[in-house]
Amino acid sequence: MKFNISLRGSSKKRTKEVKEEKAPPLPLATPPDSPTKASTFSWSSSTVAAAEQESTYPSLLSTFSKASLSEPPASAAAPPPFSFHSDQKLSAIVVGAGFAGLSAAIGLARQGWSVTIVERSGGPSKHGDCLTIGANAAKIIRRWGGGEVFDEMWQISAQGGAWLMKDEKGETLRTEDLRDFPALYGAPVLQGHRGQFLGLLGLEARLNLVNIRLSMEVVRYIDSKKSPGLVVFDGKHEETLFADVIVVADGFNSKSRELIVDSSRPTFLRPQPSTSTLDTSFTSPPPTSNYSVHRGLVRSEAIRANPRTAYLLDGCSRTWLGDDCHLTMTPLDKGRQISFNFIHSDFRGGPATLDWRQRRPISEVLELIEGWDDTLVEAIKTFGTYLHWAKTEEDAAERWTSAGGKIILIGDAVHPLPPSSFQGGSQAIEDGASLAVCLALSGGREGVPRALRAFESMRKPRVAEALEAGKQQRSLWHTWRSTGRLASHLDLLIAKFYHYDAELQTLAMFERTVQRGDEPSWAMAEGRKSEVLAKLQVDKHPPLGELFEQGKPRPRR
Ligand SMILES: Cc1cc2nc3c(=O)[nH]c(=O)nc-3n(C[C@H](O)[C@H](O)[C@H](O)COP(=O)(O)OP(=O)(O)OC[C@H]3O[C@@H](n4cnc5c(N)ncnc54)[C@H](O)[C@@H]3O)c2cc1C
Repeated sequence: MKFNISLRGSSKKRTKEVKEEKAPPLPLATPPDSPTKASTFSWSSSTVAAAEQESTYPSLLSTFSKASLSEPPASAAAPPPFSFHSDQKLSAIVVGAGFAGLSAAIGLARQGWSVTIVERSGGPSKHGDCLTIGANAAKIIRRWGGGEVFDEMWQISAQGGAWLMKDEKGETLRTEDLRDFPALYGAPVLQGHRGQFLGLLGLEARLNLVNIRLSMEVVRYIDSKKSPGLVVFDGKHEETLFADVIVVADGFNSKSRELIVDSSRPTFLRPQPSTSTLDTSFTSPPPTSNYSVHRGLVRSEAIRANPRTAYLLDGCSRTWLGDDCHLTMTPLDKGRQISFNFIHSDFRGGPATLDWRQRRPISEVLELIEGWDDTLVEAIKTFGTYLHWAKTEEDAAERWTSAGGKIILIGDAVHPLPPSSFQGGSQAIEDGASLAVCLALSGGREGVPRALRAFESMRKPRVAEALEAGKQQRSLWHTWRSTGRLASHLDLLIAKFYHYDAELQTLAMFERTVQRGDEPSWAMAEGRKSEVLAKLQVDKHPPLGELFEQGKPRPRR
């Protein structure tokens, strides 16, 4: 079979011969209920269109015209040819353009792989509100290109330099000084709008010549030991694609997890017939954590205009700690928007959902925080509506790799994390970066199963720790009064994750992880490690400079 991996809108085309295999396709548990209409909308032009419409998108996006984005920008030099595997580039198909999928795609493209992403939706999702990217993931993003995407993410992040923990009445119990983090951990914490961050990661992928094919839903996998494949559906036609490796990053509600590694796990959502694939409803109850989230996002004009609430737009995050609950408020997008997340035990709220369009009246939240800090209550009144988001919790999947050894699941698809870990996006980015290093170190096509096995055994303990830390953080914040803890003990527990460098750790551990597995005598080819390290450009990124306003006193409230 012959297929083209083409660069959308570009005259450059790579044609590749791939032998078709007779491996039986894995069946879909349920047929694709709601095919997405194929779209001509490309990642880059849709992001720019959104920027023009909302005028809240980052400046990097608006500096590119639609015309220039239909071609990779001139500055996007093709990655250097891959030298040690074979003459022909290795190819990867990535399923899902979320944080895990985009990071894997960028990491592999930087190592010289030819990468295609297939994404079900028609463009970068605007859903979500505040997403935290820890210093552990931000340091990886800083290495990309000349650091432009990192700079843009920082520009739209909350830059107040402090995270305040408060009691319900608003008295400050403890302040975490985030200004120290770049010096301590090599990067700041980025807190911004999920959709805007995703748009920037998509742009970085395009700059690395990743082919992003939108409105393509994966409906079947071909778990071949030789050349794994998948079938995508664009609403009209099915198409079969093959590659040297398939990286599946289809998120929390992964259908692929059920198909490839975990047939006993039910899919919790399904697309509604006759509407877009983003409409969702439960087909079976998700595993409950006994906690759920009330969350909202609003433009901040009313909060800024009120002298009693304007202080909330100073760029700092604030968390109010209540009885078995906590509420975090963070200004986003240079203070133009503000979000809140209220995590509490399920019994306090009405029915929870995973559909971003099921808005509920804000009066329900106001009832729950009656008697709390009156400036917080005034601010919450400006939201109008909120979303009661179902907060699920489950352990990581036991297996991440297919029986054929060349398809792997990463990110939320195999290890959804609780919001109180503040590491969902960060662990997804670490996964993508670490997987790319494993595949680059492992030794060509034949090395793919080895790379996936080593990746799985290195990443499982790390994400299990993040899951545990999230539960501990919640417990610490929710019980501080009943357990008589001192306010000075209300630490941001997750900060212990920020030292970690997923790319360098993978480089250091890969060979011995393989040897401790089922290949005790395997040795990495001479020079391979330094070649991979050089492509990571660890030392080449520019110095961080002064990120925070100098001499600014810590906020008191
Ligand atoms: C709608 C939404 C909003 C969120 N909002 C927040 C937030 O505000 N704050 C926060 O901290 N965390 C939020 N999260 C969680 C956070 O984004 C995740 O923890 C993190 O991004 C994990 O990344 P991922 O790449 O593994 O999965 P995701 O980011 O969920 O990405 C999965 C991608 O796969 C695509 N996909 C799914 N099935 C298929 C298929 N069959 N074929 C092709 N593509 C497919 C999806 O469209 C999606 O783009 C949100 C998650 C979602 C889904």
